[in-house]
Amino acid sequence: MNTPFQETDLSTIQAVFEAQAATALSWRQSTAAQRIERLERLRTSLLAHQEALHEAFFADFHKPRFEVDGTELVPSLDEIRHNIRCLKRWMRPTRVRATELTLGTRAHVQYQPRGRCLIIAPWNYPLYMMVSPLVSALAAGNTAILKPSEMAPRVAQMLASILAQAFAPQEVALVEGGVATSQALLALPFDHIFFTGSPAVGKVVMAAAAKNLSSVTLELGGKSPAIVDETADIQEAARVLLWGKFVNAGQTCIAPDYLYVHASVKDAFVAACQATIRARYGDSAQQQRTNPDFTHIINQRHTQRIQGLLEDATTRGARVLCGAQVDTAGNYVAPTLLDQVPMEARVMQEEIFGPVLPIIAYTDLQQVIAAINAEPKPLALYVWSRKQSNIDRVLTETSSGGACVNHCVVHIAHGNLPFGGVNNSGIGSSHGIYGFKAFSHERAVLKGGWVPSIRLFFPPYTAGRAKLLKYLVHWVRR
Ligand code: NAD
Repeated sequence: MNTPFQETDLSTIQAVFEAQAATALSWRQSTAAQRIERLERLRTSLLAHQEALHEAFFADFHKPRFEVDGTELVPSLDEIRHNIRCLKRWMRPTRVRATELTLGTRAHVQYQPRGRCLIIAPWNYPLYMMVSPLVSALAAGNTAILKPSEMAPRVAQMLASILAQAFAPQEVALVEGGVATSQALLALPFDHIFFTGSPAVGKVVMAAAAKNLSSVTLELGGKSPAIVDETADIQEAARVLLWGKFVNAGQTCIAPDYLYVHASVKDAFVAACQATIRARYGDSAQQQRTNPDFTHIINQRHTQRIQGLLEDATTRGARVLCGAQVDTAGNYVAPTLLDQVPMEARVMQEEIFGPVLPIIAYTDLQQVIAAINAEPKPLALYVWSRKQSNIDRVLTETSSGGACVNHCVVHIAHGNLPFGGVNNSGIGSSHGIYGFKAFSHERAVLKGGWVPSIRLFFPPYTAGRAKLLKYLVHWVRR
């Protein structure tokens, strides 16, 4: 059961923001060792709260301990570990070679902390979506104010304790609240805003950031398609795709949202999916309803939203292959497969964000690619195939934030890959060095020397210099 939340008043927000100004200035000079010590403090506090976190997650949405550890704690700790291991190297200025026009100079890129950063997170992975950008912000030498989602209030309170144990508010502060608090924060001139959430709110964040010209990273959502072609390993595809779909009850930004399967293997694929669901969650609806390994929906509003999607789809002619039981009082939606869903059904128009998988049969890959390209660019795209030419076509003819070939979701756990969307699914990247760079200003530093070409530009602009410049124009055109 979710507990009510309270907005934070403006004066508190303003005071924390101002208190972080001096810290941000002094942290500009922080060494790798100092930043690593901050990351270690965060890690120690996280581990000290592991048991309490389990309880908070269960209270907020019945998330099983296994999934809390596997999808929240492990990736958070891994991000810390990866940053601690690589930070010294990432912070090192990158030397760049002189170009022909700047011969005689030396130059490098200096990674500077941006300063005071704001991190706003969604409710679906309320720990990892907070800790991951915070790790990058700290690694890059910034202070941070964090605004967790009001929809997972128990985890938000736990995060407040974790951060209070590790940091003074002038270093890292958590501000609880909903839309009003979020908007009060967004009005402040932060040096960087890192937002994770829906594309609709992403636009609100970007508009607010524009008023102060704060830089932004937007990690958004959308409908991520999966394709299973006629050559795919059907059993393996069903096993892995259904894990990606049903972990956290489908409340995952990169969960396969809907699935295209080649008509020639559709029956075999559906049978494999049904068998997988029975083996994992139970044979009967009752067994599935009480299965402790299946997360619930975050609240009643979202349960009713998903119920509405199911009713709309079935009214329009969709066939339920399994599942579709909804218990609104218990915030539960059964693992569901849908067949023959018309494209105009809402479940094919909106991000589902629940344990419902529409399965669409296709015969022509070109039409699938065209249908994907007709929609906003997704956050992730998955292709299951043993045919290299099909894989190549999908990868070269579509666009998405990330993609997996014969896998799904796990690209988020790869510390050396950028994680992020493209246009409607996001702007900028996070994780590892990409997160470090998102929270750093890449400052161009040039050290003077004797640059022959620059002398040409000194006044007076004599006829001789004009002639040389003419040669230069000719030369740079080559
Ligand atoms: P949301 O956009 O409704 O809310 C996210 C945050 O923004 C919350 O903290 C909320 O309080 C705040 N917020 C909400 N409305 C606001 C407004 N009008 N002005 C200012 N702040 C506002 O998203 P959600 O429902 O919490 O999360 C689900 C969405 O997040 C999905 O679209 C999902 O795909 C996306 N998501 C993306 C990623 C990613 O890494 N790309 C990860 C998780 C979730």
